[in-house]
Amino acid sequence: MQNRRDFLKTAALAAIGSGLAMNGLMASDAKPAPFHINTRGLKPKMQLRFFPYELKLAHVFTVASYSRSTTPDVQVELEYDGIVGYGEASMPPYLAKQLGTVESVMAFLQRVQQVIGAFDDPFKMEEILTYIDAMDEGNAAAKTAVDIALHDLVGKLLQAPWYKIWGLDKEKAPSTTFTIGIDTPDVVRQKTRECADRFNILKVKLGRDNDKEMIQTIRSVTSLPIAIDANQGWKDRQYALDMIHWLEEQGIVMIEQPMPKTQIDDIAWVTEHSPLPVFADESVQRLKDVAALKGVFSGINIKLMKCTGMREAHKMMILARALGMRVMIGCMTETSCACSAAAQLSPAVDFADLDGNLLIANDRFRGMTVEKGKITLTDLPGIGVEKIV
Ligand SMILES: [Mg+2]
Repeated sequence: MQNRRDFLKTAALAAIGSGLAMNGLMASDAKPAPFHINTRGLKPKMQLRFFPYELKLAHVFTVASYSRSTTPDVQVELEYDGIVGYGEASMPPYLAKQLGTVESVMAFLQRVQQVIGAFDDPFKMEEILTYIDAMDEGNAAAKTAVDIALHDLVGKLLQAPWYKIWGLDKEKAPSTTFTIGIDTPDVVRQKTRECADRFNILKVKLGRDNDKEMIQTIRSVTSLPIAIDANQGWKDRQYALDMIHWLEEQGIVMIEQPMPKTQIDDIAWVTEHSPLPVFADESVQRLKDVAALKGVFSGINIKLMKCTGMREAHKMMILARALGMRVMIGCMTETSCACSAAAQLSPAVDFADLDGNLLIANDRFRGMTVEKGKITLTDLPGIGVEKIV
């Protein structure tokens, strides 16, 4: 005989089940039960798996004086009661000091693998991720991989994508910028022509001695808005401000990291006088960095691989907004796994630079897409991806 409490519990589960069936979410191949119902009397454990996965770039990628055709990456799977969450760590070599290498990421994940089973409930995300963060000072990309996989897992257990859990409207996702790489004028013109129909805003990396020539070359082909990333390339504040005024006349809409992160006072002066919003990239890594940047930059560029993942990225967005700052979300070269995870937050940002998955030739996932230049999220639960390889 059921007592009242058991009856209420059973009724609530039945209501959840029927609601899901009505919403068409209970596809025949879907995993059962939105919440774990233990039928065998055994407590399921979270299990972590991971393996290196070298990303093949569709085109050679150039940053400053450096070119490459692959990116080191580690893929992560977090399984709980038959449901698998996917995560990823991407470590561009020029950021190895900050993000780690395949070896350091694998070593950290091995340590996580040994302790993750001790957490009996994946919904205790704060507790789990705080513990993992405290295991080591660095290893941001490895922590991000676990964070994304846990978010994917919990979203799947809730049968909802994270943009919905965060209360965001996916129709408000912005257009993504697409980067035109530094190259000879002929190649730049050709690449710009190819992109002009597919994107609504371009991104150009400056901070070299041919900055004006690069912009004029692109402007000979298209009048699309352009976001500039100076990558700390301008060393003199008056020069930086003069460049920004010139760029504004060329239809540029924002500037990322105009000067080296050590020149805080100079950056604050440039931001104060700049007609365009100035965003921090190299100057910001994690939540703890944000408050000190008020009055120095107009906004921050949040990247999952630098900030340890979706949990902290969401907090950074909220803190930046509370400080009256703008927000952009960026990425590394990474598969649709990490890009789609970042895209969950994109309806809440002013600018998005989520073209990383478009740059690789061996994506393992289908997820966020770019339709007519705009970030378009799936309705799949978690981070919104399905594995295709
Ligand atoms: Mg940047």
